[in-house]
Amino acid sequence: MYKFIISSTNKENMLTGHKKEVCFIGRSNVGKSSLINAVVGQNALARTSNTPGRTQLINFFQEDKKTLVDLPGYGFAKMPLRIKKKMFEMIEEYFETREELVKTFLLMDSKIGPTKDDMQMVEYVKGLGRDFTIILTKSDKSKQSEISKSLKIANSLSEDVILVSSKKGTNISKLKKVIDSVLS
Ligand code: GDP
Repeated sequence: MYKFIISSTNKENMLTGHKKEVCFIGRSNVGKSSLINAVVGQNALARTSNTPGRTQLINFFQEDKKTLVDLPGYGFAKMPLRIKKKMFEMIEEYFETREELVKTFLLMDSKIGPTKDDMQMVEYVKGLGRDFTIILTKSDKSKQSEISKSLKIANSLSEDVILVSSKKGTNISKLKKVIDSVLS
């Protein structure tokens, strides 16, 4: 059973005491909370909401020493610039200092594919030499043609791409295996 441990705003108050963690990041409303809940098999672990941009903190979840990190959703158009800036500083500090981070899951909507914001995030984590996997979300909602297009672009950005649906459970066990293998 995973539990919510702590919300952090900077490296001084991030969770310690474990060796490895994976993180999840994506635009607001991409389906990040739903995916985390599906992966752990617990409906209410990460908060799902229809109000984009509400979760602006770094959230740590743990089962034994297995650690999942939920980063704030980016690209929320209505977010005030001041808050946006603060959020990005927080995300940058996380990626640039976090030694425990062994894998980043970059979430993108399978219907629209990688957006400009998503591309920037890919370049950013790539530039830092971080290991990442692209997750294309909500496959049950997308047409085959949309999925093909998104897959093509995603595959050009990374060798590791997984198409998922939290709603239908598509490829959730595959993702779970990746997480278990990098955290073991
Ligand atoms: P977050 O803002 O990235 O954490 O996104 P949420 O997990 O809160 O999901 C945003 C919206 O997309 C919600 O209305 C979810 O019910 C919906 N959603 C999330 N995952 C899926 C999925 O796999 N399929 C479908 N059809 N809807 C999804």
